[in-house]
Amino acid sequence: MTATHERYDLVILGSGSTAFAAALHAAELGKTVAMTEYRTVGGTCANRGCLPSKNLIEAARLVYDAAHPRYPGLSPVCMPVNWAELVAQKDEIIQEYRTHKYESLLDHPERIQVVLGQAAFVSDHEVEVRSASEVRRLMGEQILIAIGSTSEIPSLAGLADVPYLTSDLLSSADDPWETELREQPRSLLILGGGYIALELGQMFARFGTQVTLVTRGKSILSGYEPEIAQSLSEILQEEGLRIVTGALVRGVASSGEGVALSVQRHGRAQIFTAEKLLIATGRHPNTRELGLEQVGVGVDATGAVRVDRTLRTIVPHIWAAGDVIGRETESQMATPVGAHDGKIAAHNALSGESLREVDHTVIPRVIFTDPQVAVVGLTDEEAVTAGMACTCNAIPLSVVPRAAAIRDTRGVIKMVLEHPTRRVVGVSMLGTNASEVIGEAAMALRFGATTDDFIDLVHVYPTMAEALKLVAISFTKDVNRLSCCAS
Ligand SMILES: Cc1cc2nc3c(=O)[nH]c(=O)nc-3n(C[C@H](O)[C@H](O)[C@H](O)COP(=O)(O)OP(=O)(O)OC[C@H]3O[C@@H](n4cnc5c(N)ncnc54)[C@H](O)[C@@H]3O)c2cc1C
Repeated sequence: MTATHERYDLVILGSGSTAFAAALHAAELGKTVAMTEYRTVGGTCANRGCLPSKNLIEAARLVYDAAHPRYPGLSPVCMPVNWAELVAQKDEIIQEYRTHKYESLLDHPERIQVVLGQAAFVSDHEVEVRSASEVRRLMGEQILIAIGSTSEIPSLAGLADVPYLTSDLLSSADDPWETELREQPRSLLILGGGYIALELGQMFARFGTQVTLVTRGKSILSGYEPEIAQSLSEILQEEGLRIVTGALVRGVASSGEGVALSVQRHGRAQIFTAEKLLIATGRHPNTRELGLEQVGVGVDATGAVRVDRTLRTIVPHIWAAGDVIGRETESQMATPVGAHDGKIAAHNALSGESLREVDHTVIPRVIFTDPQVAVVGLTDEEAVTAGMACTCNAIPLSVVPRAAAIRDTRGVIKMVLEHPTRRVVGVSMLGTNASEVIGEAAMALRFGATTDDFIDLVHVYPTMAEALKLVAISFTKDVNRLSCCAS
């Protein structure tokens, strides 16, 4: 196959939300761009991450709530689950979203091109894209690495001989890798205790799959506030998920039922079996087989591309953003972070204006379990580790009027303050609608708000956002002894 050679102002490796944000900004600046993609245009979030998971998680909530009405006077209803139809509607939603939010934006082929195939560097200005039918060489004045991340697969004895699922099970019928799960498993073993394990674990359990979650941590959600992890763990177990913590996995093998996981726990050997195994032990940046060593771009111990705060790598015309930079510059693997930074990278690469720096100090993030976990800023432990003098307080959501009114008092909210300024440096919440509440906390952190700002702000009554005001008050008063809306 002979390679074609093409020239662009910006060549982007990847076509996810980070790449699109960069490409659109480059086009606004009047530049030419090529994005590359070896799976489905639109990347992980749209095709096999955020969107499909949130679609099915909501369907699972409807099934669960119908079977467990919170109000006396409402009778439980058992909704039959048709997995094939659920998957088909999810694929339709993904297809529509991809068309509107991604493919339709490619209506300026003279500005933005997508080149399908596997991309790798051949020199510091040149990327080769290989597909089954052609090889193309893209010359970039500037290059942006935005190729995202993939499920981390632990090296476990026997894993190579046993079929297993990853979060790719959510991908659609259009995915050339054909990883979509077409049949609902009767039982599922999930390895991992982070957000993907918990979101998918609760979802499958609510659809009727028997779920066992196995994690080596002392609890689920390591790195989160212990009050949140503990409370969510109890809620999930009450729903019927089996959660096995402190488990050292020794190996995997086929069993009559499907798969058997051998673990060492509290000095004892134990075996867990299920029809399917889902590996959800984390994600690693897609920097393998990219030819980075050829061009001198460095990666850190996790494989993330090393960048400075302008998102520039050690090679001046090569930039990186999104999941592929992992925790570099205190970043986080999340769609809005990549989209935000993709635009900054394009600006820095192409505008000729002064360089912009990323600020990753305030990144709200959410786990879409029910109830949701939402976090912004530092945890108690992170503040202490950073050498900060701090105080913190946690209150149960049962004190929030809206929670009581709608008969859903599950959860807890915790606030971390800098001492003695009372500036709020962290908020963690487990509760219904926490994903919407955390926006107020994020804005407050961005502008250096103190507890007085939360208390003085008139909050809409009755909303879950009042949890922020109440936890702020709790540093000086007993929130159990307040009348409605009083501070
Ligand atoms: C199950 C799941 C649920 C999630 N839920 C949320 C959520 O609710 N909210 C949220 O903010 N984030 C969520 N995320 C994370 C989010 O999906 C990612 O942070 C985001 O998609 C990263 O965007 P990106 O553009 O950096 O990378 P990606 O979207 O991964 O895009 C990179 C693209 O590059 C392609 N690629 C990789 N290597 C090559 C190569 N060599 N050649 C050509 N193409 C290549 C990949 O196929 C991919 O399409 C979720 C992730 C998963 C897996």
